Amino acid sequence: MSKILEIENLTVSFDGFKALNNLNFSMEAGELRTIIGPNGAGKTTFLDIITGKVQPTEGTVTFKGRNLAKMSEHAIARFGVGRKFQTPRVYLNLTPRENLELSCNRSKNVLGSLFRKQSSGERRTIVGLLETIGLVAKADIAAGLLSHGEKQWLEIGMLVAQSPDLLLVDEPVAGLTDEETFQTAELLNSLAQSHSIIVIEHDMEFVREIARQVTVLHQGTVLCEGDMDTVQSDPRVIEVYLGHSEDEEDEAA
Ligand code: ADP
Ligand code: MG
Repeated sequence: MSKILEIENLTVSFDGFKALNNLNFSMEAGELRTIIGPNGAGKTTFLDIITGKVQPTEGTVTFKGRNLAKMSEHAIARFGVGRKFQTPRVYLNLTPRENLELSCNRSKNVLGSLFRKQSSGERRTIVGLLETIGLVAKADIAAGLLSHGEKQWLEIGMLVAQSPDLLLVDEPVAGLTDEETFQTAELLNSLAQSHSIIVIEHDMEFVREIARQVTVLHQGTVLCEGDMDTVQSDPRVIEVYLGHSEDEEDEAA
């Protein structure tokens, strides 16, 4: 097995406040890793570092064997890091099929890829993606008519269409119904068969559905790591989670 991502002694300071503090992390290619932790633990900053949005104050991030220091966000994205943000960013006037076509042809211009004749291979890819994200029946309606959950799946599909080597997914089930949450877990489980994925999530029910290896962040550093049972029965994790009531977390969010 080879490491796709390795983070060593990473510290990120914002005006002296350490959002990440001497953090060490690594994952193998092909892993689905879930990252949990209370609000303010540094989860989003952790993703910002991998995508190059934020630069480390100290430490190194190595992706596919290459140190990402000084690479631009754009260069890192082209090098194979794909990120799904919390709010879907799909073209609402276009259909799911068209949105996916655009993502498959990122380097070409918008009109060119909409009107260009597709190869049969490309058509299969898009149909395959529509099947994976469960939107075959809604492939040709405006994306603006999709539910919040369906838009999330479409955006995940658009990300996959760009064939990233590592998929970063930040809180994919925030605001979704229980049924949509369950379907999102199924989608990520099916993508995990052929992708390396980091999922950040708050919703413990959901985490239980997808969890293999779980990393718990707290105060900018790794508190513990292991399978769901190990992590959930760790007294330090229980302390950190019980120390934050749901109400406090909602206010902080
Ligand atoms: P999480 O996603 O786990 O809730 P974040 O990574 O968003 O945590 O934030 C970690 C800590 O760093 C928080 O205390 C937050 O207020 C702080 N922080 C994040 N970004 C900035 C920034 N740009 N400037 C100052 N402080 C920040
Ligand atoms: Mg966050």
